[in-house]
Amino acid sequence: MLNNDVYSDRRVLVTGGAGFIGSHLCERLLEGGADVLCVDNLYTGHKSSISRLLDSHLFEFQRHDITWPLYVEVDEIFNLACPASPVHYQYDPVQTVKTNVHGAINMLGLAKRTKAKFLQASTSEVYGDALVHPQTESYWGNVNPIGPRACYDEGKRCAETLCVNYHAQHAVPIRIARIFNTYGPRLNPGDGRVVSNFIVQALQNEPITIFGTGEQSRSFCYVDDLVDGLLRLMYSPDDFSGPVNLGNPTETTILALAKKIIELTDSKSQLVHQPLPQDDPMRRRPDITLAKDTLDWSPVTNLENGLKQTIGYFDALLANPKTDPLSDLSLKGTGREERKSSKIFA
Ligand code: NAD
Ligand code: UDP
Repeated sequence: MLNNDVYSDRRVLVTGGAGFIGSHLCERLLEGGADVLCVDNLYTGHKSSISRLLDSHLFEFQRHDITWPLYVEVDEIFNLACPASPVHYQYDPVQTVKTNVHGAINMLGLAKRTKAKFLQASTSEVYGDALVHPQTESYWGNVNPIGPRACYDEGKRCAETLCVNYHAQHAVPIRIARIFNTYGPRLNPGDGRVVSNFIVQALQNEPITIFGTGEQSRSFCYVDDLVDGLLRLMYSPDDFSGPVNLGNPTETTILALAKKIIELTDSKSQLVHQPLPQDDPMRRRPDITLAKDTLDWSPVTNLENGLKQTIGYFDALLANPKTDPLSDLSLKGTGREERKSSKIFA
């Protein structure tokens, strides 16, 4: 695990900090003594995800849409703001493009003025329906520029372009994380992503909705591993600015995922097939050689253990939807039990 000292006392902006990954990132930064400014327009994020962080004098929340300029003084910027679930990013595709493009311009402009280091949360979606498998950073991708996923895919591709241009033209230090499917506690139960959908359906003994045959694959990374990768990438002493894949290279079909979740929840749910959404990528698996070699990073949580943690979270959430179950859960095995006793949360 990364030594927390590297971000102690740093003034860190996390855009999208009230979202799924952002809330975990804010938590980790606070635990290491960073001074965290969480900026979020609460489009898909929730105050409940960060409510327990508000007690810390090092944490600040600002409701703000990054498609508008922001004037703050910071040392590092993690630019995570953008809905990640296909249901949400397709609901208002123009806003999705604006968040990715105008938002990146605003945040890169902020980095330029403050001389902050900038990390862009990019995505495996830049590879589209990949013709190369597993996906390496050198692959340019196979993206439909006018399809339903284009607002997200092309928005993220343009954000990467902006990063490398601000780096070349204005010497802004940049990092680009190509994040593959990430899951864990605090996924929004209603946002349509596959892990949260299947777990909620299984816990309620409702039909599990398999889109298409279920033979399409994804590679699922547990959120704690991903956050560790983001922090290593931002605080790596090496000066590199190209994209880096962050994800778990263990590939699984959607059908196998459904069966595993049914087994782990002891559910009576049946599988039902629904039409495959247009442009749904068939196979996805990261080649993480670059992250291993340059950041000494690879995921440590296997799918079964990660799913057990996530199932525990949703079980508690369904019983008491108004609270953040992460405050109460027994979180053994994720490293959280150690972190909960750190100075911020003592
Ligand atoms: P999320 O939807 O849970 O969080 C996104 C956050 O951004 C939300 O809190 C939302 O309210 C906020 N937001 C959206 N538009 C905004 C705007 N214009 N101004 C300010 N805030 C805004 O998604 P997530 O899973 O936490 O993803 C975080 C980032 O990681 C996203 O950029 C996403 O594209 C990227 N990513 C995630 C995954 C994944 O599997 N979770 C995979 C690849 C990339
Ligand atoms: N999926 C599914 N049932 C669901 C939700 C998603 O079969 O209820 C499939 C979806 O078609 C895709 C995969 O699961 O093939 C991952 O979908 P998700 O929306 O989580 O992420 P993404 O497609 O962006 O990887």
